[in-house]
Amino acid sequence: MVSPLLLTHGTICIPSPSAPRVLYDHAILLEHGIIKRIAPQSEFGRVPVETLDLSSRVILPGFINLHTHLYSTFARGLPGVKSSSTFPQILEHLWWRLDRSLSLEACYYSAMPALLEAIRSGTTTIVDHHASPCAIHDSLDVIARAVTESGLRACLCYEVSDRDGPEAAAEGIQENVSFLSICGSAPNPMLRALFGLHASFTLSEKTLEAAVRAGRGLRTGFHIHVAESETGQVETNRRHGMRVVKRLAQHGVLGKHTIAAHGVHLNDEELELLAGSGTIVAHNPQSNMNNAVGIADLKRMREHHVHIGLGTDAMTHDMRQELRAGIWAQRLGQRNASVGFDEMVHALWKGNPDAASRLWGFPVGELSVGSAADIIALEYAPATPLTDESLPGHLVFGLGSARVDTTIVGGRVLMHGGRLLLDLDEGEIAAKAREVAAQVWARFSGAG
Ligand SMILES: [Zn+2]
Repeated sequence: MVSPLLLTHGTICIPSPSAPRVLYDHAILLEHGIIKRIAPQSEFGRVPVETLDLSSRVILPGFINLHTHLYSTFARGLPGVKSSSTFPQILEHLWWRLDRSLSLEACYYSAMPALLEAIRSGTTTIVDHHASPCAIHDSLDVIARAVTESGLRACLCYEVSDRDGPEAAAEGIQENVSFLSICGSAPNPMLRALFGLHASFTLSEKTLEAAVRAGRGLRTGFHIHVAESETGQVETNRRHGMRVVKRLAQHGVLGKHTIAAHGVHLNDEELELLAGSGTIVAHNPQSNMNNAVGIADLKRMREHHVHIGLGTDAMTHDMRQELRAGIWAQRLGQRNASVGFDEMVHALWKGNPDAASRLWGFPVGELSVGSAADIIALEYAPATPLTDESLPGHLVFGLGSARVDTTIVGGRVLMHGGRLLLDLDEGEIAAKAREVAAQVWARFSGAG
C-alpha cells in the first residue's frame, strides 16, 4: 500500500483543451492511488502526511502512449536491414524478421529499458501491441512482469496474425485469452488487456472469426493496425471485396474499447463507421512519416466526430516529441499553418485520457479529483507569463524540451530529482539488454 502524499509548491497545469488552467500556490493530495484533493496550499494547514516539494517545477498529468511496441527497442542500430521503399518491404525486411527473432528473455529485456525511458519521459501509461511469433506462449506475462517491476500502468495484447501459419495464429489467440482471463480474474489497477490483432491484410476470415468469437466471451475490445498504408486497403479489397473498416465492422471488431492504430487511409464511409461505433483511433505521426505511408487527416476525422488519441508506434517514449512532430506534419501535409495545433493538443490531452479511462474503468490521465494519481513534474522556469490563456503555447513550445524531474504513478514516486527510485539497477538492465539484443541480432541476420 502506498502512503498518502502531498505535492507542494509546484505550478499545477491542467492541460484540458477546452479549459486549460494554471494553479499557483495549490497543493495536490494523493491517497489510495488516486488524486484525493486539489486546493490552495494554505487550506491543507499542517497535514500529517509525507510531502514532496516541487518548487520551480510545473506539474502535469502523466502522459499516455496509446499505441506502441515495446519490443521495438531492439531495432535500434540493427545492422543488415535491407533498404525498403514500400511499407510491405519495411514489414518483410525489418519488423517481421525482428519479431521472429525474439525469445521470451528478449521480450523482457526489450520491454524493460523502454519502460524506464517512459518513466524518464513522463509517460505513465502505455498501451502496447506485442508480437513474438517464435515465443508466443507466456509473452504477455513476461511483459506484465516488466511493467509491474517498473511501476508503470500498461494495457497489453498479443497481435494475432496468419503471417506465421495457422499454429502461430491459434497460439496468438490463446495468449490473448489467457492474459485477458488473468486480468479479469485478479484485477490489478496497473494492468489491463485488449485482444490484439495485427491488421486486416494478415488475418484470414477463419482467424478473424475465431479471434472475435474468443474475445466476445471475455467482453474485450481489440487493438489492431487499421489502414496504416494504402496496401492494407488494396489487399483487403482484393481478398474480401470491401475496405478495411467495413470488414472489421462486419466482424464485430469495432467499439468503444477498440483501438484502431493509424487510420491514415480512410474514406468518409469508414470514418462514419469508426465514429458511430465509438472506436478509438490512435494517430502515430512520426511512424507514418518514417514509413512514408502518408499523414492522417485529423481535421476531417474530427469533422466526422471520430475519437482521436495519440500513440508513438515506438518511435519515441516521449509524447512531447510526438505532439510536436504531429503538429508540423499536419501543417506541412495540408500546406496550411492554421491546422494541427488544436487537433494534436486535443488528441493528447483529451482523446488519450478518455481512451485510457475507458480501458481502465476509472479516470486516468487527468489532474482532477478522483483520477489516478499519475503525475509528472518538469523543471521549467517560463520566460513568458504562464497563465490559463498561454498554457497551450507553453505546452507545445516551452515544455517540449523541459527535463522531467518527477514521475508518480498510482501515487507511487518512481522518479524524483531525475533519479529513479526503483529497486532496479538501470545500468545492469542496459548491459543485459545489450547482451540479449546481440543474440536477437544474430538470429535476425540468420533469418534470411
Ligand atoms: Zn504499430
